[in-house]
Amino acid sequence: MSDLPSLRANGYRDTWCGGVLGDRVGAEARVAGWVHRRRDHGGLIFIDLRDRTGIVQLVFHPEDAGGAFELGHRLRPEDVVSASGSVVQRSPETVNPELPTGEVELKVSAAELLADAETPPFQIEGFAGDVGEDARLRHRYLDLRREQMREALMLRHRVTAAMREFLDREGFLDIETPVLTRSTPEGARDFLVPSRSQQGSFYALPQSPQLFKQLLMVAGFERYYQVARCFRDEDLRADRQPDFTQLDIEMSFVGVDDVIEVNERLLAHVFERVGGPSLSLPLQRLPYDEAISRFGTDRPDTRFGMELVDLNNILAGTEFKVFASVIAAGGTVRGLNAGKRELPRSALDGLISRAQELGAKGLVWAFREGGGWRSPTAKFLSAAELGALNERLGAEEGDLLLVVADKPKVANAVLAQLRLDLAADFNLVPEGADALLWIVDWPLMESSDGGGWDPLHHPFTSPAADFDPADPGGARALAYDLVWNGQEMGGGSIRISDAGLQGKVFAALGIDEAEAEARFGFLLEALRYGAPPHGGIAFGLDRLVQRLANADSIRDVIAFPKTASGADALTGAPAPIDEVQLRDVGLQLRAKRPPGGR
Ligand code: ASP
Repeated sequence: MSDLPSLRANGYRDTWCGGVLGDRVGAEARVAGWVHRRRDHGGLIFIDLRDRTGIVQLVFHPEDAGGAFELGHRLRPEDVVSASGSVVQRSPETVNPELPTGEVELKVSAAELLADAETPPFQIEGFAGDVGEDARLRHRYLDLRREQMREALMLRHRVTAAMREFLDREGFLDIETPVLTRSTPEGARDFLVPSRSQQGSFYALPQSPQLFKQLLMVAGFERYYQVARCFRDEDLRADRQPDFTQLDIEMSFVGVDDVIEVNERLLAHVFERVGGPSLSLPLQRLPYDEAISRFGTDRPDTRFGMELVDLNNILAGTEFKVFASVIAAGGTVRGLNAGKRELPRSALDGLISRAQELGAKGLVWAFREGGGWRSPTAKFLSAAELGALNERLGAEEGDLLLVVADKPKVANAVLAQLRLDLAADFNLVPEGADALLWIVDWPLMESSDGGGWDPLHHPFTSPAADFDPADPGGARALAYDLVWNGQEMGGGSIRISDAGLQGKVFAALGIDEAEAEARFGFLLEALRYGAPPHGGIAFGLDRLVQRLANADSIRDVIAFPKTASGADALTGAPAPIDEVQLRDVGLQLRAKRPPGGR
């Protein structure tokens, strides 16, 4: 097979297992690898030998001199072996069409045991999916021997190789940035590393290379990329890891369209190389406000409809207290039409509990019946209101309607999730459909719980030209996110390249001059030495590969991931350190926090 890596013949092997093909019949070959499977058959011993490229069948004959048969007899799964012999055609009835090497076998004349394997804690061959993830992570080097994991990591390699190939061709320079650094705020908690030489001081691990890539633009590199490790001390969710990888990109003398254009071509190139969906460019761009209004979320899955609808003005004068009080308090009533469904009461109760679990106070359900509703709520609404609601929701006879009245943020989040749940339950996503789109025209800031303002991206994102510091909530950002089938794959922005404007944005975010100077003085200073207009993006590599591999978990495309509690089951990290190490860095441990304490 031409896509096998080249191989220098040596005492271990001269051929890849996956290279022992029909065209080698009659030739001699020497292979090396792991015993995948072993069978005893009418005095013959069959070994499936596995290396990175595939599996070849070895046959040990009892009449073989030189101890090979005797060794074959002793071999057990995962032993490491080198074997040589002649490639022979299998008889037609023993051909294995499942294997590329299935037409031939290697008739072993000499074999050497290179390493004995203990019985693995789970089977590599014929791995059953019910092996616990803890065991898989604890013995990750064994788990990684499985074909599915090997394929996933090889795919990951091909993705990054294609990225590098494209970016190199486009003149981007691969430049590394430090891992021991100062806080680079991306909205998460920092991982900290105590300094030994300056006791009491700490490095922070970068949440992203954001500030360094901006400095590289100030330095005049113009086009930068890096496959960068990022560190965020967040509560882990299913698709998060405390250390993860981004494809990080920055460019100078560009606006939003320039960054989007080159990144669309990058994605198209990568997908083409690794067999992802074929993209028709340019991709759709959806303004943030429209995404929220139609889908309730800034990462909409647009592969199916069931869009959200505003019901406020229909209900402005309603007598129904629940709706009226929410509207009076500045809340919103929104709903969706889930289509013609027949659901038992228990399933409807399930939807209500789900809505509550997602943060709503309640959920109104209804089926359109004639001009009105079949619903416990119907009696509280006038015939005119029901008629208007049916019309706004596009309801036909028997359609299931769901309505949430709450603060806009809650109503949107709850309906957005119910929409996804229902799509999964009712199989609404068309087979093989893919939707990649940009979310653009973001707000610059959102109000924070403390009454101030938080950046929607990070504090270095440029506001649109009409920025008015007196109206932070109205400001728009030159930012863009890429969404694939409802998952955020990456995001970026044009940056602030003017120290004065950066100061104003810091001020609006409640970062005063002294704090800005202390935390980001180096950036503000750099911006005063001639900073080009610049912008960039970062893609979550793990997630991108997960989607391309169609893997259930992000952990299935990472060689050595952490468990859900942030632990490394293989090495035992994080682990206590001894007194000497603590003293070296000038630290003393406090009593452990009681559970739930601060
Ligand atoms: N640094 C940003 C992030 O990690 C991406 C960017 O703005 O380029 O999300």
